[in-house]
Amino acid sequence: MTNSIVTAGEELAAFIKRHPKLWVITGAGVSTDSGIPDYRDADGQWKRPPPVQHGDFMASTAVRQRYWARALIGFSALREAQTSGAHRALAALESQGYIQQLVTQNVDRLHQRAGSKKVIDLHGRADMVKCMVCDYQMMRHAMHSEMASMNPAFAALEARHAPDGDADLETDFSMFKVLDCPRCRGILKPDVVFYGDVVPSQRRLAAQAGLAKADALLAVGTSLMVFSGYRFCRAAHDRGMPLASLSLGVTRADALLSHQWRVPLTPVLEQAVRCLQSR
Ligand SMILES: [Zn+2]
Repeated sequence: MTNSIVTAGEELAAFIKRHPKLWVITGAGVSTDSGIPDYRDADGQWKRPPPVQHGDFMASTAVRQRYWARALIGFSALREAQTSGAHRALAALESQGYIQQLVTQNVDRLHQRAGSKKVIDLHGRADMVKCMVCDYQMMRHAMHSEMASMNPAFAALEARHAPDGDADLETDFSMFKVLDCPRCRGILKPDVVFYGDVVPSQRRLAAQAGLAKADALLAVGTSLMVFSGYRFCRAAHDRGMPLASLSLGVTRADALLSHQWRVPLTPVLEQAVRCLQSR
């Protein structure tokens, strides 16, 4: 382990010790060690075409055919992903009593699988689908197996996995049959806040209420480029709370941060957990 990782871990542990009611926000960086690719590079720029927009998904049959045909291949990367050391270290910090609330921008549910309990899935969860008309819900894997039997030729294709259960597949999608709501024939959509949509207000208010009880904000593995996450940094800053970030790259909130460690997440979080245990 390099000195910079040990030092960052010790500094992070000291920060946590001073502010034991942490409000944590996480992003794609905590799941890249789980093999889930992300969209942005260390400069916060898109490294691949941006994901599907909510309005396009709702308005266009062709967009939905392309989305689901690609997901039929790519979703296995999300479903089969295992928790990373970063997920497990954050769960350990929670069980040590240091986390007031954990808000994640990820939709992979890996924090819960690692044992975190105080989690708000800000952008929803990719393993559920919901009818946009009648609110009927079903598990994503059930929808996929139904669509695989409706589209055997597509189900047999292979392509490179992409973020959010997508795959890099380009072909003629016009023959792909999309499953509609079994109850009302409405449009089924992953229970995820797509780009161009807004976080449901109840969820946003719950996250804000948690922030009001916290004594510091810690961002982990997120560039905070998306406003729905960045807004909490602004709110924390307005309240005079210290803000820290642990991430490989730049963040949109750099100017608001009181502490910033640009280091690999997992070893530094693990080092902080060890320091806090030994005190
Ligand atoms: Zn329905």
